[in-house]
Amino acid sequence: MLLPKTLKRGSRRAFWGGAPTTSAPPSSSVPQMTAIDELLANNSEFASSLASRHLDVRPSRRLAIVTCMDSRLDVFAALGLGDGEAHVLRNAGGVVSDDVIRSLAISQRLLGTREVMLVHHTDCGMEKLTDDGFRAELREATGVAPGFAIESFADADADVRQSIERVRNSPFLLHRDVVRGFVYDVDDHRLREVEPAAIR
Ligand code: ZN
Repeated sequence: MLLPKTLKRGSRRAFWGGAPTTSAPPSSSVPQMTAIDELLANNSEFASSLASRHLDVRPSRRLAIVTCMDSRLDVFAALGLGDGEAHVLRNAGGVVSDDVIRSLAISQRLLGTREVMLVHHTDCGMEKLTDDGFRAELREATGVAPGFAIESFADADADVRQSIERVRNSPFLLHRDVVRGFVYDVDDHRLREVEPAAIR
């Protein structure tokens, strides 16, 4: 089930429009509601509006989706997905990192998924930085160079193709034949399929 739209909009408005840290400093006697507090209240309303039920841990559509953490991409609404239907793996960029391969290996080998859907999107934050620049920024701020790859990209289509290749080439995955990649337009909400590189 999805959260009612009114709740989502309410929490977003409160976060961006009413952020307590940007106005007067909070008075010590009046506790400020954080975004998390508001979501807890939303959850209470959400849970009390629904009957209790138990779904199988194995996704009914036997599908795993890898996508970006972007706040404008409501995966369940955009794809008409319901609870219990698919695994949704999200990170900055929707990158097929080692950790995503770890999750896909568990998804396929233990929990029965067979198809992989990769979804990048327009106006992605990962197009607005460079690996070298962000790595230098982290090193300057902390004195330590990060051990992880930054995985920025300049071309979403090219990165989708690379992601398809990473899934296709991973020896840890059981099912690599149905892997399709898309770019979601955050303005008009449409998915566009990306033609994969030719299979070698
Ligand atoms: Zn993104």
